[in-house]
Amino acid sequence: MFKKILIANRGEIALRVIRATREMGIQSVAVHSTADSDAMHVRMADEAICIGPPSSTESYLSIPAIISACEITGAEAIHPGYGFLSENAGFVQIVEDHGLKFIGPTAEHIRVMGDKITAIETMKKLGVPCVPGSGGGVGSLEDAYRIGDEIGYPVIIKATAGGGGKGMKVAANKDEMKSAFQTARAEGKSNFGNDEVYIEKYLTTPRHIEIQVFGDGKGRAVHLGERDCSLQRRHQKVFEEAPGPAIDSETRARIGKICADAVANIDYAGAGTIEFLYENGEFYFIEMNTRLQVEHPVTEAVFGVDLVREQINVAAGLPMSFQQEDLVVNGHAIEVRINAEKLPNFSPCPGKITQYHAPGGLGVRMDSALYDGYSIPPYYDSLIGKLIVHAPDRPAALARLHRALGELIVDGIDTTTPLFHALLAEDAVQTGDYNIHWLEHWLEENV
Ligand code: ADP
Repeated sequence: MFKKILIANRGEIALRVIRATREMGIQSVAVHSTADSDAMHVRMADEAICIGPPSSTESYLSIPAIISACEITGAEAIHPGYGFLSENAGFVQIVEDHGLKFIGPTAEHIRVMGDKITAIETMKKLGVPCVPGSGGGVGSLEDAYRIGDEIGYPVIIKATAGGGGKGMKVAANKDEMKSAFQTARAEGKSNFGNDEVYIEKYLTTPRHIEIQVFGDGKGRAVHLGERDCSLQRRHQKVFEEAPGPAIDSETRARIGKICADAVANIDYAGAGTIEFLYENGEFYFIEMNTRLQVEHPVTEAVFGVDLVREQINVAAGLPMSFQQEDLVVNGHAIEVRINAEKLPNFSPCPGKITQYHAPGGLGVRMDSALYDGYSIPPYYDSLIGKLIVHAPDRPAALARLHRALGELIVDGIDTTTPLFHALLAEDAVQTGDYNIHWLEHWLEENV
């Protein structure tokens, strides 16, 4: 087992990893920018090292700075968290070239899945159902029109290198194709340095269902059921739950097996998420994330596992601690994302926390790097906490979420907490009867 692990991240996910290393008796090294000298992950880790100025490109994304930090501290492995360098195949290659261990899949798996076109091609070959679409890159507007006519409108034009909801444009009809095609290309170019796009049928009433998979890198893999992340704003998740209210155990077992077999087939190592849209009983693959997901705690809650510990074990060459038959859904879990954002526009709201109180009690988990007097810097993601509740069933989980949100105090800044209070009062949220577009419509009418 590793003696020391460096965490190439910040915020709540850095804490999440430090907590796992501490329970495993492994030393942790935090890295931070000058803007994060007072951050909780720096205080909590066994060692901390400054890797650059506030801008992420010069700190959390600086590969030379992170490799140097490993060499200075003697860390043997790197946990990337999510975001930043977690899905950067070039980084993984460099880590390995330095004789260090990347806690995650191989550079090759990240490369294949990071390019959405090669990901779709690979998944198709592995028997995973995909969205009808161009199947490959679409280089010209003429081709885009032809494909639009073939698959039928509405269609969605997506940047091959896209992520975080960026580089996606819907064309409701032929007239909208030109501008959607050009905007998706431009966004791909400016955000990801790649203007390649592809086209998919735009599904009008799907749910977002994603399957958690885990592989040992040697041809064995399991699935840990689904998460329903259908409540989204601008293609970004805000509320996630497991199990999915629309998925029964046979459906879970069927799609779960397809996913577990697919990743076993390619000798995938560690945690991964296969994302689908789910409409009229059919699954349509949209992308695979080759890392730990923000919403992983709901899966941990219902399956009683520690996914970070498992990632570290597998990276160290140990076998997985569970088999498919051990993995049984227990109860219901919900996560809400507490962002430092001001409604109604969800504009970023960094600043000083004058008072922080985390909810507690039975079945409540608060993953957050906040503390009294902490100043949230303006340079990074607005996610400041994840409130996760676990209860015997969905109604009890919703009641527990209501109770826990009432206990949460984050004073000094605006957060998305009021959104969740309001959502819990909605029948659709209580019954779980919504699709990926429901929240956008609701926001237009209510916020
Ligand atoms: P990103 O990598 O930016 O997260 P995804 O491909 O995972 O992009 O898609 C994110 C979200 O965009 C989905 O959860 C869904 O809400 C919407 N979306 C993506 N593809 C389609 C599609 N073919 N039809 C309808 N909505 C889609």
